[in-house]
Amino acid sequence: MISYSKHSINQQDIDAVVNVLEREFLTQGEQVPKFEKALCDYTGATFCTAVNSATSGLHVACLALGVGSEDIVWTSTNSFAASANCARYCQAQVDFLDIDPVTRNISISSLVDKIEKAKQQNKLPRAIVVVHFSGASCDMEIIHQLCRVNNISIIEDAAHALGATYKDSKVGGCKYSDMTVLSFHPVKSMTTAEGGAVTTNDPSLAQKVALYAKHGITRDPKLMQSESDGPWFYQQLCLGYNYRMSDLQAALGISQLSRLDSFIERRRYLASRYFTLLKNLPLKLPKIDDLPTSCWHLYMVELTHHNRSEIYRKLHQRNIGVNVHYIPIHFHPYYQQLGFKKGQFPNAEEFYHNALTLPIYVDLTDEQQDYVVHILTELLTDHG
Ligand SMILES: *Cc1c(COP(=O)(O)O)cnc(C)c1O
Repeated sequence: MISYSKHSINQQDIDAVVNVLEREFLTQGEQVPKFEKALCDYTGATFCTAVNSATSGLHVACLALGVGSEDIVWTSTNSFAASANCARYCQAQVDFLDIDPVTRNISISSLVDKIEKAKQQNKLPRAIVVVHFSGASCDMEIIHQLCRVNNISIIEDAAHALGATYKDSKVGGCKYSDMTVLSFHPVKSMTTAEGGAVTTNDPSLAQKVALYAKHGITRDPKLMQSESDGPWFYQQLCLGYNYRMSDLQAALGISQLSRLDSFIERRRYLASRYFTLLKNLPLKLPKIDDLPTSCWHLYMVELTHHNRSEIYRKLHQRNIGVNVHYIPIHFHPYYQQLGFKKGQFPNAEEFYHNALTLPIYVDLTDEQQDYVVHILTELLTDHG
């Protein structure tokens, strides 16, 4: 089966992990700080905390902003549930934004309208979690302008977007946001098996993120609320979690990060081939302007004349593991129980109805891609 996405592991990655296994520390050694430094160098952010998943990263990012039960957090409904769950972990209320059918990211016009309405009702959100869907950045400059004047903090859910750029800066550099959360799950741009990171340029947020991700415990005498009892001493300052990344994972991360640019180059090449090979089929393709800037986590098409479920099934029968991203978050029973209804976010719902995620990953060969295109062409031109 050709899957929709997959990690790429080489001997350098294997050696990096084995090397840590033979050393003194499996966790809390040198590899995690090294990986955090490498992520700062890559993204341009000043601070980075590596964590055990992007989901944990989103949770501690919300905690660092002080999101609580009195607050509202907005996010795109066209995302993985973690983009919204982070606010629920903090007892905050969640509300969703619809997408722009062309970019498939948060619709700027619906954001403008929603802010206006919320202002009138005195119900502005404390924070917005913006999702760079499929690896193409949201229009962060505009979102930043809209949020700044209304005191809305911005968390970038960049689980799809490590390696992407926006206006000549790397996603993760937090030029237009308070924090960015990255994921290193195997289907994403690069992997640490499970893993994530939070980047920021704000020293106070960086300190809080690190604290919440490590039990709320500090060994820094400057942060302690009384004199240290001795060299063994530490204090717990708040209720934190054990969201640490291990040194095994960080070593894999360092090795993968050194390969990331070649990963993105390969994904971009495959995306550009899809644009050429699919252009005459009855499909709506992604925005071609994104070709040089997106990191192409997903290559998503929308069927315009065919039944999606049927095409999905037929592709699977031919060993092509296409997928669908995303079931709108507000469709899930958990969110329906909170009062959300089908029909509330029509663009995301329409996208979900017709969307198909084609295979795109570093080790997908040109021949495999040709096979995908061949079968898809057969099915969509009714010779199949
Ligand atoms: C994968 C993903 C996450 C969660 O990442 P984990 O590292 O698996 O916790 C969050 N948001 C989006 C948009 C994702 O695609």
